[in-house]
Amino acid sequence: MDQLSQSQPSRSTDKVIGKFSVLATALLAALLNVSVAAEVNYQLDLAQVKQQQAEITMRLTNVEKGPVTIVMASASPGRYARHDFAKNIFDLRAFDAEAKPLQLTRTSASTWQVVADSKDIVVKYRLFADHADGTYSQIDRRHAHLNIPATFMFAPAFAAEPVNLSIVNKPRPWRVASQLSQVQGQWRAKNLDDFMDSPLEISEHQWLSFTQASHGNNYQINIALHHQGTAAQGEHLKTLVQAFVKEQQAIFGELPDYAGKQYTFLADYLPAVASDGMEHRNSTVVTDDRSLLQAEYAQVETMSHEFFHAWNVERIRPKSLQPFDFTKTNMSDLLWYAEGFTNYYGKLALKRSGYFSQDAYFEQVLKALNRTLQAPGRRFQGPAGMSQQAVFVDAGVSVDPTDYGNNYLSYYTYGEVVALGLDLQLRVKFGRSLDQLMRQMWVLYGKTEIPYDATDLQKQLAAVSGDAKFAEKFFNEQVNQSQLPDFKALFAELGLRLQLAEPNKAFAGGVTFRNEGAALLLASRPLVNSARANAGVGIGDTLLQLGEYPISTEQDVQLALKNAKPGEKLTLKYQQKGEVIVTELVLSQDPKLTLVVDEQATAEQLKRRNDWLNSQAVSLAVM
Ligand SMILES: [Zn+2]
Repeated sequence: MDQLSQSQPSRSTDKVIGKFSVLATALLAALLNVSVAAEVNYQLDLAQVKQQQAEITMRLTNVEKGPVTIVMASASPGRYARHDFAKNIFDLRAFDAEAKPLQLTRTSASTWQVVADSKDIVVKYRLFADHADGTYSQIDRRHAHLNIPATFMFAPAFAAEPVNLSIVNKPRPWRVASQLSQVQGQWRAKNLDDFMDSPLEISEHQWLSFTQASHGNNYQINIALHHQGTAAQGEHLKTLVQAFVKEQQAIFGELPDYAGKQYTFLADYLPAVASDGMEHRNSTVVTDDRSLLQAEYAQVETMSHEFFHAWNVERIRPKSLQPFDFTKTNMSDLLWYAEGFTNYYGKLALKRSGYFSQDAYFEQVLKALNRTLQAPGRRFQGPAGMSQQAVFVDAGVSVDPTDYGNNYLSYYTYGEVVALGLDLQLRVKFGRSLDQLMRQMWVLYGKTEIPYDATDLQKQLAAVSGDAKFAEKFFNEQVNQSQLPDFKALFAELGLRLQLAEPNKAFAGGVTFRNEGAALLLASRPLVNSARANAGVGIGDTLLQLGEYPISTEQDVQLALKNAKPGEKLTLKYQQKGEVIVTELVLSQDPKLTLVVDEQATAEQLKRRNDWLNSQAVSLAVM
């Protein structure tokens, strides 16, 4: 049929053809649209895992005219110090769609510009990686453990575009575990933020999975367990995880709506990995250089903490961390809540789930409480100020020494104690609990994903306690300044006595030591106002004699202090920067506190304690 006869169809045929041509045009436009839509395609080539390298290709499609900036991240969400991941990339090149080399100019430590004269830009580079934790990457004969900011370059102009990742030359038995969705053999992210949030564990791992129902959905909780233990050990870990998942769900009333209805623990329990945990929206990286058996399943403590983050910090999100800037440190004054309260609940959920006995849980509480009560750093800043130090302390590395023992206190520990104090105050003074504040924050800010600030949090504390004055005072005194509540009085209302653990024990101040040959050196700075600090001893000094005892090991120090009483003075001889000094060490009382169960507790006190510590998951069924 020729053109002419085609152009003279019957009316009815015309109609049909007309419809078809509209459709065809739309289809063609859609096709054109698809082919010209900007996107980012990565290829990860794992041919050289034994050399601890990967070759990475980033293809940017439909590039607009003008130079394109490409960046290697300097920050990773959830880890607050600066990291400069660019130090481990090399052999960086750029090409056009026809593989013709393009000019590449380095414009700063972590940014480059490519002059774009084609629709596509292809960037190739190699990555060396040998640090498996929640921030960095490790590639070796066992696995490719990849955190995205530490692995993949990106183009800020393409931050909103969808991301596709294909993985080639994967060693044979290895499988990919990730929160990314899989579409036709490729891994897909909605945009750069989604991609950056989605670590990859590519290895021969044990896959464990269970279903947890929540608000009419079935969620699949997975554990990609890369370890050298037995499958039965993995199964046992799964039962511990199942138990705390239920307890955490009971606190918030529901699970977050994980993408694809799945949440995955990416666990590496192997030699030569760094112990860590890092939260993500629908997964977490948990690493430990001990096996499950060696650690007696203590890994579950980090898992519980990170799982709680799927609510608190991933969805109940501080405004100060939103949006996240991958090129610099991101400071927040709310980490005492985001991390500290998560620390508190990570452990409390394990008590409620039965993993911790009451004694084991109190040991955890006391560790944080003793550290916080004794920390000289609290003189200078409260929890809000300490949170802002995260940009230096959270895996920040510098060569100059600091005096953090005396001027800083971790917002993890401090925040955990603030959470404990607030929980006890809510229970004792108001007949409420911190669980209710967490749930309120979830409903208003987490579920809705509206980032919050300190004012929002104070408002909700006022609502939950029913006392705006209390909420204001709490923020003024216990968050922005460093006051603590009267723990002794609060614990008494739960039938628990907070008292000195060893009132007759002499205390010289908590320090660490190290041996250099037969010499014993101070390895940490003594805390201000401690006996050692008052005697003028400093880090690096050699202890020579304490009382009657010549000192050459840490045991000698313990022996010298063993029978000493608080208030007693011992002769101290030490060497500092080449000079021998003889002075007096005036011992103080060991300030360590312990919790004792009051057998005479009233029924009301006992009920308060049980409401705090007992399983809440039983009430799940009726929710
Ligand atoms: Zn955390």
